[in-house]
Amino acid sequence: MFRQGTALLSKLRHFSVLQRQKSVSAPERALQYAIGQKIYGFTVREVTPVPDLFLTAVKLDHDATGAQYLHAARDDSNNLFSVQFRTTPMDSTGVPHILEHTVLCGSRRFPCRDPFFKMLNRSLSTFMNAFTASDYTMYPFSTQNAKDFQNLLSVYLDAVFFPCLRELDFWQEGWRLEHANPTDPSSPLVFKGVVFNEMKGAFSDNERVYAQHLQNKLLPDHTYSVVSGGEPLAITDLTWDQLRQFHSTHYHPSNARFFTYGDLPLEQHLKQIQDEALSKFQRTDPNTAVPAQKLWDKPREEHVTCSPDALAPDPITQNTLCVSYLLGDITDTFEAFTLNLLSSLMISGPNSPFYKALIEPKIGTDFSSVVGYDGSTRQASFSVGLQGMSEEDTERVKSIISQTIDDIITTGFEEERIEALLHKIEIQMKHQSTSFGLALASYIASCWNHDGDPVELLKISENVSRFRQCLQENPRFLQDKVQRYFKENTHRLTLSMSPDELYVEKQRSLEQEKLQQKTQALTATDCQDIYQKGLQLLSEQSKTQDDSCLPALKVSDIAPTIPHTPVEVGTAGGVPVLYCEQPTNGMVYFRALCNLNTLPEDLKIYVPLFCNVITKLGCGDMDYRQQAQRMELKTGGMYVAPQIISDTDDLDLYEQGILLTSSCLERNLPDMLHLWSELFNSPRFDDEERLKVLVMMSAQELSNGISYSGHMYAMARAARSLTPASDLLETFTGMDQVKFMKRMAEMTDLTAVLRKLPRMKRHLFNPENMRCAVNAAPQKMPDASVELEGFMRNISSHKKERKPVRPVIVERPLDPQAPSRSSTSRKLVSEAHFKPCQMKTYFELPYPVNFISECVRTVPFTHEDYASLCILGRMMTAKFLHGEIREKGGAYGGGAKMGRNGLFSFYSYRDPNCSQTLSAFRSGVDWAREGKFTQQDVDEAKLSVFSAVDAPVAPSDKGLNLFLNGLTDEQKQIHRERLFAVTHTNLTDVAERYLGIGQRTCGVAVLGPKNDNIKKDPSWIVK
Ligand SMILES: [Zn+2]
Repeated sequence: MFRQGTALLSKLRHFSVLQRQKSVSAPERALQYAIGQKIYGFTVREVTPVPDLFLTAVKLDHDATGAQYLHAARDDSNNLFSVQFRTTPMDSTGVPHILEHTVLCGSRRFPCRDPFFKMLNRSLSTFMNAFTASDYTMYPFSTQNAKDFQNLLSVYLDAVFFPCLRELDFWQEGWRLEHANPTDPSSPLVFKGVVFNEMKGAFSDNERVYAQHLQNKLLPDHTYSVVSGGEPLAITDLTWDQLRQFHSTHYHPSNARFFTYGDLPLEQHLKQIQDEALSKFQRTDPNTAVPAQKLWDKPREEHVTCSPDALAPDPITQNTLCVSYLLGDITDTFEAFTLNLLSSLMISGPNSPFYKALIEPKIGTDFSSVVGYDGSTRQASFSVGLQGMSEEDTERVKSIISQTIDDIITTGFEEERIEALLHKIEIQMKHQSTSFGLALASYIASCWNHDGDPVELLKISENVSRFRQCLQENPRFLQDKVQRYFKENTHRLTLSMSPDELYVEKQRSLEQEKLQQKTQALTATDCQDIYQKGLQLLSEQSKTQDDSCLPALKVSDIAPTIPHTPVEVGTAGGVPVLYCEQPTNGMVYFRALCNLNTLPEDLKIYVPLFCNVITKLGCGDMDYRQQAQRMELKTGGMYVAPQIISDTDDLDLYEQGILLTSSCLERNLPDMLHLWSELFNSPRFDDEERLKVLVMMSAQELSNGISYSGHMYAMARAARSLTPASDLLETFTGMDQVKFMKRMAEMTDLTAVLRKLPRMKRHLFNPENMRCAVNAAPQKMPDASVELEGFMRNISSHKKERKPVRPVIVERPLDPQAPSRSSTSRKLVSEAHFKPCQMKTYFELPYPVNFISECVRTVPFTHEDYASLCILGRMMTAKFLHGEIREKGGAYGGGAKMGRNGLFSFYSYRDPNCSQTLSAFRSGVDWAREGKFTQQDVDEAKLSVFSAVDAPVAPSDKGLNLFLNGLTDEQKQIHRERLFAVTHTNLTDVAERYLGIGQRTCGVAVLGPKNDNIKKDPSWIVK
């Protein structure tokens, strides 16, 4: 996987669940360490309590090698490990990225192929991955099980320090020349390789292309001038030797930073790391430091091209322009904190000066893809600009940017906006998420990578008070920063990007040239060699593997029962409410589901738009700016989204609605509910200009998302003709919605659209069709229920019985276990006459890779075969499809899964093949029907399914299954027992009965480049 840096604070969104109450807490125990204390080859350097985050930070280093170590002791059972190396390539061959992939292909103690992917099925991990950033490579995992932690730690340590790095691994993961059909020496030679294809896919994303150029050109003197993930054609210059060389210099303990988090004892981690890895190394000087970029004495301008976006809202205005300023060193943590806040004040939300100056005049469709503060490089940067603009506005945009900077220096920021931002930080610290360890690991990674102090970064409230003090001492504190870092800064880059009709063609011919260069240089022996190697790789990939060297949990390690989630069903003003008492750390979470049953059919396609804009147009006596300010000051966010819920018993039955989601500090609950009642009682639909801005931004966002989430679009499309719920889901979230939004963004007059919104509101914000859920601390609950009564009284005038549009409505009790109460039911739509039909759809898109899906209509959640299909999907992915689609096919990913919607879906992601992958799906079914798998394979699939089933749930989200799906703990327990009980025979049986050709209706969808085979085949619908 390859990833780009994200803004510092956005990484710290997720805070985790406090669990495992022990007599002495993990943070307290960690306070016992003494400075200078020696533990298993390490020396304790610093012990720091961080009460804001309920943790104790222990800093150590390794005596023999100098490896650095940070432990965050916290009462959280979701323990995390991560090791990161400073990887600073000086060319674009993608060496760190290919290395990241190949070290996971087998190691000294675990020489089987692909131990990393295999461990996914032998563990109850809550997270396993690896990332290549611009200047470091990180390997994190997390799990709630102590034995599992040790197992995974062994595999990770051995992978990074003692990988096999076989030539075959390099070919498979990096790049190779191979016959298009490896068994046919007369088929043409082509480039193959997982990273090669992954990066081709990544570079088909214009946002990604832009971000890459911007970083390369803003920091041109050292490692940031190259593509650490690899430029597809440069990748083909990398040799196996260079890869091994890079490993020996960079993956060394002297160049490593270890991070552990959670409630497991530190000593045990240190012992294992010392015994299994560090004791085998001597100190080296890795010499990987990144020197500071030499500052320019005058600003620069550059221009690049990209592929035209067939789906962009307007084909003529597809230019991007942004100005990027180099800021200070990220290891200066307070300065970085300040600049990050300053950046938010400048660009976030409709009240920020850049939003007013750039977005509202509608010169472009949205901010440029790179915008705001970026602390992922040694020196941070700030960027601002527009995408979706026309070329002739270039000078205008440049002068607006510099004028806005001048204006900020003159007027500064309103105090209320600064307060709203600090309130947001308070909420981020209070909100408990399930992946806090991971959030911490990525939050500290960049700063620590350049020898900044990671513990300083954790002292968030200290930074907040220091920030307040600076403002008090100098009211122009922020304006002075703007003067220095923006106005007077000569190290700034203006980068423009425009589409080139021939871009894709040029890329293709460059690849052809490179290919020709390589093939012309080949001797007869080389050719023979390539053919033999191709066969060898294929036979290696097809071999049954002996994985017995790998550690594994057993099915018996899985807890047999689920813990009970206490939920009270009550009512407020006649509306059903689910109260779930949780340790929410001073937060209250409020949700409401309003069904769409009375909404006229012709308005349905507007539901996503309605959801997107309803909280952004103003309400009561507040215009949209005042409303945004109010929300920032009083809430952690208020959102509305379409929700389609398949019934658990019947595939032709579903609930359609919109889900309101919000959170706030306990003290602000009355204010938050007041905001919601203003939205119910007096939303504003009078600002067409505002609506235009929102439509444009959302169309741009949808269009940009396709190259990243193509498989989701393919799956939604393949499913559309199979159930009524999937049909509606495609309308709301699929390619049709993208095209619909694109059309709207092109309309000059939106008055007709604007007029539909109040009509929709009357149907959607109707307490008659509503149910609510509150998650809060037990002591807050009585108060919350009183507040909720008040809220219902406030909006009760909208309670109106209307006729549903669809004739058949089926009522289901909200809580089947609760004594029957007529008011607490869910109203589902039944389409008993729905006829599923087979449909194959192809969307031609300007990408070099495909996204493919095939979906099969099977059974609903409560059906006895459902559990077998879940296990089957997981097993087919791990034991068959991964090998065919990723290893042999060179796609970034692929697999199969059973969905809650009753559909069994196959998919591939960033896939160079099309027909080969579609046949791989079918071969997967044959493989399963023939029962070519072992009991061990079945058990591994079970572990893998359970690691998802048992993933930790945050206090804010507990009880949601009951609230949304009407799924009780008892039903979940029945499903659990069925999963345990699945046998080899069940699997061959369900593969035969549901997935065999002609057994069930299926749908297929492909998003990808020009495909003549499909176009010629009349069974496909070409879009
Ligand atoms: Zn990758």
